[in-house]
Amino acid sequence: MALRPYIVGNWKMNGLRATLSEARAIDRVAARYPAVDVGIAPPFTLVHAMAEEAQAMAVGGQDVHAKPSGAFTGDISAPMLEDAGARFTIVGHSERRSLHGESDGDVQAKAVAARAAGLGVILCVGETEAERDAGQAEAVVSGQLHGSLPKEGAEGLAVAYEPVWAIGTGRVPSVEDVAAMHRAIRADLVAIYGDAGKGVRILYGGSVNAGNASELLGVADVGGALVGGASLTAESFAAIINAAAMLIEG
Ligand code: PEP
Repeated sequence: MALRPYIVGNWKMNGLRATLSEARAIDRVAARYPAVDVGIAPPFTLVHAMAEEAQAMAVGGQDVHAKPSGAFTGDISAPMLEDAGARFTIVGHSERRSLHGESDGDVQAKAVAARAAGLGVILCVGETEAERDAGQAEAVVSGQLHGSLPKEGAEGLAVAYEPVWAIGTGRVPSVEDVAAMHRAIRADLVAIYGDAGKGVRILYGGSVNAGNASELLGVADVGGALVGGASLTAESFAAIINAAAMLIEG
């Protein structure tokens, strides 16, 4: 891994205040591995409490609204997230794209708003199984990148490649397919941002667990992992953080 590894947990709609004990344990693991960047994106209700306690890990949002304030019932803005202690936000997760109808343009506006508020951005892309079967995976992902990445520059940006069919299913692409996609994403990043595109971390996401983390994180141009189910307990998430640390220590 050429860049600092970035291991991020997406808790989705999971977690009550009682779950903060898991976050504390994850923070202690993060403190043991200072060469690995660790983040957790809990539900909005836990962002402030978790951020107050976190010492070694970053806390982030799972989504953000593109506008700073206004009549948007149920939404959370980037300045609100930042005010609650968040340091980053996920945007464009496939569950937001499919269940909430978010377009590439919507995702781009969210990414721009998040960066304007000083938040790091993890921008998700990924093809469906039908698109992969049709040989369209790279074209689909490239279209998402060109349509949703902010044009202003690469600062504070990470991309998460998450094949939709691998999320929460226990299925993962072959190492060759992950390598080919991450290579293609890197080429798009360089086409869009020039040399700065070489410094953007490209995370892999989709059924990463303690058993496959080492192999996936060892693939060229995989700069970390976005982890759903296996980030919910300190025990399983620690194994993934540990796998990243072992790869850089050799
Ligand atoms: C995700 O939803 O971002 C994800 C990668 O989930 P899982 O690890 O559970 O497949």
